[in-house]
Amino acid sequence: MSHIPYARQWVNQEDVDALIAVLNSDWLTQGPVIAEFEKKVAQYCGVRYAVAVANGTAALHIACQAAGLGSGDLLWTSPNTFTASANCAFYCNATPDFVDIDPSTYNLSVEELETKLVDAEKTGSLPKVVIPVHFAGQSCDMERIQALSRRYGFTVIEDACHAIGGNYKNRKVGSCQFSDMAVFSFHPAKVITSGEGGLITTNSEETYEKLCLLRTHGITKDERFMEGNSIDGPWYYQQIELGMNYRISDIHAALGLSQLTRIDSFVLRRHELVECYNKELADLPITLPWQHADTWSAFHLYVIRLNLDEINQTRKEVFERLRAENIGVNVHYIPVHTQPYYRRHGFSQKSFPEAEKYYSETITLPLYPLMTKGQQDYVIEALKEILHG
Ligand SMILES: *Cc1c(COP(=O)(O)O)cnc(C)c1O
Repeated sequence: MSHIPYARQWVNQEDVDALIAVLNSDWLTQGPVIAEFEKKVAQYCGVRYAVAVANGTAALHIACQAAGLGSGDLLWTSPNTFTASANCAFYCNATPDFVDIDPSTYNLSVEELETKLVDAEKTGSLPKVVIPVHFAGQSCDMERIQALSRRYGFTVIEDACHAIGGNYKNRKVGSCQFSDMAVFSFHPAKVITSGEGGLITTNSEETYEKLCLLRTHGITKDERFMEGNSIDGPWYYQQIELGMNYRISDIHAALGLSQLTRIDSFVLRRHELVECYNKELADLPITLPWQHADTWSAFHLYVIRLNLDEINQTRKEVFERLRAENIGVNVHYIPVHTQPYYRRHGFSQKSFPEAEKYYSETITLPLYPLMTKGQQDYVIEALKEILHG
């Protein structure tokens, strides 16, 4: 069997045609396709505004800036995530901290969050921003997180990079029904891709205006936002904030827009594959991904946990044996607080035990809509062979 990756994009001829059309058009960037992409994502998610940017990390950065995160502020997120979810605190000269995970969903635990908020209130160290991460595509318990945000006064930015196409309480993730903003990534490993790309959704007009400014240098041509009254002429613009160049190009947006038309079929195909894994792997000494009844996951990832006390092998041995079979297994995630950069900022090895325990047992199996039955059967047989012998 040739190499089976853990994730893979699905680009078809329609996508290619959409790209060629942009390349032959008048605009390669800042043209009409970006606005069209934003409009379609907003419609899909059932949200008022969408701002497309260069990548998911850029989206997290300006979402934090728009939330007013700055020096002296705290940002809390899950340790079981890609480092970008926490790095955005450092970008804003704020301090990141973590909330341990729920042992069944591997998402930030709302109980832990509440306990930590109660303590923080006593010591005057409440967070300004909390970033729940919808790990593997399953939404966090947003209704309860929003209730806590109202009580303790923090902004909620959903890191929904895994979760576009998923639902929470029958609403699309990204609807921001229970949050201030939600952030997506369109990296090729994610549910849909634009090559590189990211996007922020919000229902707040004020937040939307801020995000648009921060995306392009803090520059505006809109007189409503200008200072003073000396409009020098039609060429005039003002820089009123310090923004970045985080624009997405029309080329990338065209790929994203074309992919968006197939998002539901991608997620359905992921669910089919997940059901097959769940059925075929049920008797192995592993823990399958547990799903909360309020959620319909986008299944960006299929993660299993090895019941190590029933297996006479280490996680590393199982992982290496799967890799030796040409199966591109992976591990999501090394807890962010254990990274050297974070240790240098004072996080010790043993501070979030659920995330660390989960990390020591987990393996991500290949999952992507183009995966064939033959490929999946091969992965299933290899895992059975390795775990049962
Ligand atoms: C992919 C990802 C990001 C970053 O997105 P990029 O587009 O790669 O910058 C952030 N958070 C999570 C949880 C991700 O999976």
